Amino acid sequence: CGIAGYVGGQQALGVVLDGLRRLEYRGYDSAGVAVLANSRLLLAKKAGKLSNLEKMLAEAAEADLRAGTTGIGHTRWATHGGPTDRNAHPHLSADGRIAVIHNGIIENFAKLRAELQAEGIEFASDTDTECVAHLLAAELAGIAGSPQALADAMRRVCGRLEGAFTLLAVDAQAPGAVVGARRNSPLVVGRGNGENFLASDVSAFIEHTREAVELGQDQIVLITADAIEITDFFGNPAEGRDYHVDWDA
Ligand code: GLU
Repeated sequence: CGIAGYVGGQQALGVVLDGLRRLEYRGYDSAGVAVLANSRLLLAKKAGKLSNLEKMLAEAAEADLRAGTTGIGHTRWATHGGPTDRNAHPHLSADGRIAVIHNGIIENFAKLRAELQAEGIEFASDTDTECVAHLLAAELAGIAGSPQALADAMRRVCGRLEGAFTLLAVDAQAPGAVVGARRNSPLVVGRGNGENFLASDVSAFIEHTREAVELGQDQIVLITADAIEITDFFGNPAEGRDYHVDWDA
């Protein structure tokens, strides 16, 4: 239901949790984060209020989870699979390489899931979302991680998805990059200085930057600390709508 992503020089965990808190008004039933540090994805997710997640983090967070400067976070409004810890986002690919968060509904998830299960992939949740993590991992198998490779994989996977989605993904082998995609669901980029943000709503990052780029329909965006690259689902360069947020948060 709410989405936040960050790449830059700050600790991603704090930025992402603050962003999620600012999206809390939308309502949600679970929350989670994934941070990339030392080529590993570290996840924390929990059913219930953000404060449940924060309590868990305060008690048990690995040092790396706090150190990482690339991260994504999600507040969930369950549509497929009950509001449990394991169904909370992010979802990981079976090899642990890819973490994904998603707003919306993947209409053809049952078919994709059956296909992946036939290939021997075991699912760890009941969500429609998890198949996206496995599909991205399959696209990237045997390919050296890079921001560009992650964006290419997202493009190919989006070509197979039906329904409404805002997706963010991180590849453990591509530090310093978050890729986003949108169809029938909102996604906004926050343009920072040596840092960039992604969110379902500008209010998530307004305390950091007021320079925003709203993605158009069927677009992919790749953010690194210094660049924002937008393409369509076929890989052609595309443009979002740049604007300045002048209201007070
Ligand atoms: N359909 C996904 C799920 O049930 C995402 C729900 C949302 O938009 O929060 O997990």
